[in-house]
Order: sequence, then structure tokens, then C-alpha cells
Amino acid sequence: MIEGVVIKGYSGHYYVKYKGKIWECSLRGRFRLENKPALAGDRVVVRETGKGKGVIEEILPRVSELARPPIANVEMVVIVMAAKDPAINRELLDRMLVMAEYEGLEAVICINKCDLVDLDFPQLLKNTYGKAGYRVILTSTVTGMGIEDLRSWLAGRISVIAGPSGAGKSSLLNAVQPGLMLKTGKVSAKIGRGKHTTRHVELLELEVEGFVADTPGFSSLNLPEMETENLAACFPEFASYEGACKFNGCLHLAEPQCAVKNAVAQGLIDKSRYRSYEAFMKELEGRKRRY
Ligand code: GDP
Ligand code: ZN
Repeated sequence: MIEGVVIKGYSGHYYVKYKGKIWECSLRGRFRLENKPALAGDRVVVRETGKGKGVIEEILPRVSELARPPIANVEMVVIVMAAKDPAINRELLDRMLVMAEYEGLEAVICINKCDLVDLDFPQLLKNTYGKAGYRVILTSTVTGMGIEDLRSWLAGRISVIAGPSGAGKSSLLNAVQPGLMLKTGKVSAKIGRGKHTTRHVELLELEVEGFVADTPGFSSLNLPEMETENLAACFPEFASYEGACKFNGCLHLAEPQCAVKNAVAQGLIDKSRYRSYEAFMKELEGRKRRY
């Protein structure tokens, strides 16, 4: 028996990576009967049936399961934003952070294209998000800045990479591992390729013993189906204040004596982060009213 990681699967065929080799596997009947397909990212036990061929006998328990794209055992999302071209979209960044928090994924923020701007600007973002509890890496695929750091964060786990088109996701992965040779720029055959083609997630293997999905981390940017009272938990920097809010179950909106809003007024919580919170709250409330 061997234990490996499913890097790709479609219509009953699975490719399992084990010790640098790819095994072409089928899934044991039991799983098919129970309609429990293996997902990319699954750690599986394989019984060898022939040269490079096997049967998946067991799917090991998943630590996480991402729905869109469907990948098991993702531990981390790297959210890539360009410092310029395209300009950073703070609300989109916060939205992806909320999604990561909701999914229980560790988030690393990558501010790319730092070669195009005065470093003060990305440094400020790094401070802001660092204070909120996030790891921020300033990168440039042109100068090589931050690439080593990014590589070390990708090591030893399964990650997805998210961020707007053009931010440099493919370029960053190529910089982390030049052998990947992902297409970059305005080409369709690259990370985030055509929305309309149904395709299967494939995990790219990194020499640092990590895997990255070849498809963007959050293929839908809808906020998760959550109750309004759970949104604050997706803003980790609120945690140390909300205990001091006057009202139990304070949503930190119009309530009096709200410690979170106080912290915003005093500059202890970033204003823009709070604005995203308000915007997401409206979105969740609007969704509730529609039912
Ligand atoms: P993706 O859509 O997020 O995968 O972005 P790409 O990797 O395709 O990059 C989009 C464009 O930005 C390409 O023309 C890249 O050459 C360019 N680019 C990527 N990273 C950097 C960077 O760090 N600095 C600069 N100046 N350009 C970059
Ligand atoms: Zn409050």
C-alpha cells in the first residue's frame, strides 16, 4: 500500500502523486456506490495493481473541503493584490479574507508589483493588515523581492492562490518555481483561464513539498451563507474589543457604546476594514430580506 495525494481527478480517473511519481488510479467500488468521489487534495491509500497503476482503497479524513473550486485539505490561501496595475481593491481583499476566515483557511496577503510603486504604500498596507493579524508579503516578480518568503509559506501544504486577474498570480508561481512555466499576461491558458470551460482542478507540485491549485482560490466571490452575527468573527482584529460592547450580541453598527466603533474612531481598528464590514453586513442583510 502506498499513501499519496490526489492531484487531479475526473470521471473515475485519479492521478495520485506519491514519491515524485504519478499513479493512475481508479476508485474502489464502495466509494463509487456511496457517491463519494475523491477530490484533488485528498490523501489516499492506494493498492498497486500494475505498473504505475492502482486502486484507491481509502480516502483519509479531510482537514478541510473547499467547494468552489472543489479541493480537499486546503490549508492556506494566498491572496494576491497588485500595488498598481490593477490598483488594489481593499474591499475585494477584505472579502477574500472573510471567505478565508469562514473556511478556516490561513490567509497570506501578497502585495505584488512592488517594483512599480514607492514602497511606502505597500508598507502601509503591510502594517494595517499585519495589525489585523495577517501575514503580508511584499513581492515583485521583476526584482525577486519577497519570492523566497512566499516559497517558504507555500512549503509543505496545499494552498490556493486568489486575487484579481492581472495581479500576478501566474507570474508569482513561476517565480517560486520556474519549471511550472505557467502562461502570464493576457492569455487565456493560464491560472484563471476561461470562465466558461468546465475543467478539472489540478494541483501543481512544488519542490518545497507543497501543492498549489492551478485554478483561482475562490471561484465565486459571493459571501458565504452566514448569519449577520457571525460576520464580526471574520474580522479577527475586532475580537479584542467586542467583549466591551455595551450590548450582548452587538453588531457594531448603530448600537450605542460599541467598543468596536470606538476603536475605529480612535484609529485602533482601520477605518477601511470597518467600511468593508459595514458593506458586507448590508449585503448579508439584503440577502436575508429576499427570502
Ligand atoms: P494573473 O492574471 O494574476 O495570473 O497575472 P499574471 O501573472 O498573468 O500577470 C499579469 C501581468 O502583470 C503580466 O503582464 C506580468 O508580466 C505582470 N507582472 C506580474 N508580476 C509583476 C511584478 O511583480 N511587477 C511588474 N511590473 N509586473 C508584473
Ligand atoms: Zn459593538
